[in-house]
Parts: sequence; C-alpha cells; structure tokens
Amino acid sequence: MIRTIANEIGCFMKRKHGLLPMERIARRRAVVGECWETSLSPNKVYPQLKVSGKNLAIHRIVFEAHNGPLAEGMHVLHHCDNPRCHRPEHLYAGTLSENMHDMWARGRHKKPTPRIDRVAVLALADTFSQKEIAARVGCTQTAVSAILRAAGKSRGRATSFNKATKKKATSPK
Ligand SMILES: [Zn+2]
Repeated sequence: MIRTIANEIGCFMKRKHGLLPMERIARRRAVVGECWETSLSPNKVYPQLKVSGKNLAIHRIVFEAHNGPLAEGMHVLHHCDNPRCHRPEHLYAGTLSENMHDMWARGRHKKPTPRIDRVAVLALADTFSQKEIAARVGCTQTAVSAILRAAGKSRGRATSFNKATKKKATSPK
C-alpha cells in the first residue's frame, strides 16, 4: 500500500523543462522562519509536485531524495509540525499513532480543511498589521495570528518550534 516516491517515478531523474524534480522544488522554495515552504499548491496542506503526471507530496520527495526510499509502513513526519515544510532537517520517518491508524481504518479521518494562503500571509507580515492582512487574504485575524505564530513571526516576541506555543496562554481581559 505504501509506495515510495522512488518506485513511483523510477528515481528522481524525470525532467520537466530540463529541470529535475528537486530543482523544480528548489526554484519554488520560500524560506519562512526556520522552515522551507513552497509557492506550489498554496491551497494544499501538503504541497505537491507533478512528476510524470502524478501528484507527489513535496516533503516525501525531499525526504526520499535525502534518505532513500521510505520503509514499508513508514510516513514522513514533521518535527516542526508545519505540513508545508520540506526542509530535510525537519523531516523524519515514523509510524502514525495507533489512534491515527484506527481513524484511517474506520474512515473517520476528516480531510483537513483547505488552508489560507500561508505564503501570502507571511509575505505581507512585514508590511501590514494582522487585521490588514486578514482583509487582504480573506480570512480572520485569528487565522493570520496563528500562521504568524507558527512561523515564528509573531510580533514582539519570537517563538520557537515548541508544542507549548500551540497552547494559548490565557490572557487577562
Ligand atoms: Zn519545518
């Protein structure tokens, strides 16, 4: 069931407009904080690259390019919890938790809702306020705030890749 990228495309040598898959990924790279994101498939949680007519997850392509084919049953996971990231150092192979396996097996796993254009939000972050960004991108200020926080761009204080940042501190009103 698990098919490795290497097997799917018969190695990483399929060129498009003279470029190898890894070169195409590098050209569309957007460095966001510590992460390497991409301007490809902005509405996908896991950005993809089309290779020989097949849509392949970019983080998997990069992982396998660096580490060789993914072992049976393993998934490419993110240390940084940023699904749009494909920085090799942020990727590792692991199994989904039992719970996740169960969810998948029972078909209860919901597809993640399409994301806001994170790349656009981050590009605007240095120029506009969160409220202004929200208006331009067409989402809530809360969403903008979450994206900036996740990317370590939160105004005023830098955040690290820390699970603790996910838990909102209760602020006095
Ligand atoms: Zn990352």
